[in-house]
Amino acid sequence: MAGIIANNFGSLSVVFKSGNGAELTAEDGKKYIDFVSGIGVNCLGHNHPALVAAITEQAQKQIHISNYYNSDVGLAFAREITKAAGMDCVYFCNSGAEANEAAIKLARKYGWLSDQQEKNKAVPRKTIVTLEKSFHGRSLATLRATGQEKFHADSFAPYPDGFKHIKPGDYEALKTVFDSSVCGFLMECVQGEGGVNLIDAEWAKAACEAARNAGALVMIDEVQTGMGRTGTLFASAAMDLHPDVITCAKGIAGGVPMGACIYGGKATDVFVAGDHQSTFGGNPLACACGRAVLKELQSPGFLDNVNAAGEFIRETIKSWNLPCVTEVRGKGLMIGIDVTMVPGEVQKKCLANGLCVSTAGTKTVRFLPPLILDKVTAEKGLAIFKDVLLSF
Ligand SMILES: *Cc1c(COP(=O)(O)O)cnc(C)c1O
Repeated sequence: MAGIIANNFGSLSVVFKSGNGAELTAEDGKKYIDFVSGIGVNCLGHNHPALVAAITEQAQKQIHISNYYNSDVGLAFAREITKAAGMDCVYFCNSGAEANEAAIKLARKYGWLSDQQEKNKAVPRKTIVTLEKSFHGRSLATLRATGQEKFHADSFAPYPDGFKHIKPGDYEALKTVFDSSVCGFLMECVQGEGGVNLIDAEWAKAACEAARNAGALVMIDEVQTGMGRTGTLFASAAMDLHPDVITCAKGIAGGVPMGACIYGGKATDVFVAGDHQSTFGGNPLACACGRAVLKELQSPGFLDNVNAAGEFIRETIKSWNLPCVTEVRGKGLMIGIDVTMVPGEVQKKCLANGLCVSTAGTKTVRFLPPLILDKVTAEKGLAIFKDVLLSF
């Protein structure tokens, strides 16, 4: 039977009522350590004073005005986020799928404009190349961009055409796929939903270079890796990829729905007024939250904590030397633990014992703790996790 709220995972039957930092409280008063942060969204944890103040103060001024007009906070956040990303322009929306949908439209129009310059071109520049095991969202186009067969179910077909998937690490594919029909290359630096798969930095650089040389836009999906999650503000900067487009969502406004398609260089003048918009996108409330989050992420030592906490978690789990753990990997506080059990079963047992964890791919338990995680809470969560692993 369908639940009253569509698509919620019914088997995880806890009902939460509040949270503080990296801890959640259920209706019955039971406390849980939160290693999920709303799937990488609550980057400042729950009930963070700076975010609560931003919401409260902005709500007393204005919440929404539509994109007919600019808002003071909208302009301020646009300046701050484009500067932080080294870009020229930003399109604000409300989710990761929307940010990627915007990037796809941007690349298609970029290809179309470039075809106008090249008369009698045999094959139009329409193709978007993405990676196997990627995840880019659940709209029809972003599902099609997603390089996993299970997201291309017949029940929702037809999907938009014009996508090709290549295997991360495949150098041969780079020679053949990037021809003059490609308008964009879209990839995650660490594949989140696909299994916390780290993309090799040398290969990623070569792929971006091949895309660029073929005349395509380089677009990095930082919906999960961005906003400090991987220990730098953007994962693509740490990998030296110099994209034309970065997409963000999840943690960008700390839990208030927001997405962003941030772009620069040759992508800057592609969209003109009327090409793409969103009613809610970039409303003052979301922008005020975005500003508060970015300010925290850029405060001294914040990202050092992300790196140190991530390292601590990975090293601790490795030090247990448990046969049921086959690999521990990740960047910053985006962590994947391959287990020999069914990850969903580990997830359920963790929850029953007061620890929220996520899963990814087919064999991976995924941790996405709030970026403000402290050592004591990390240790508490890890102790529960170890007990659960030993209980199988
Ligand atoms: C979560 C996610 C998306 C989709 O974001 P929504 O806000 O759910 O639409 C897209 N790309 C990546 C890499 C993600 O992790």
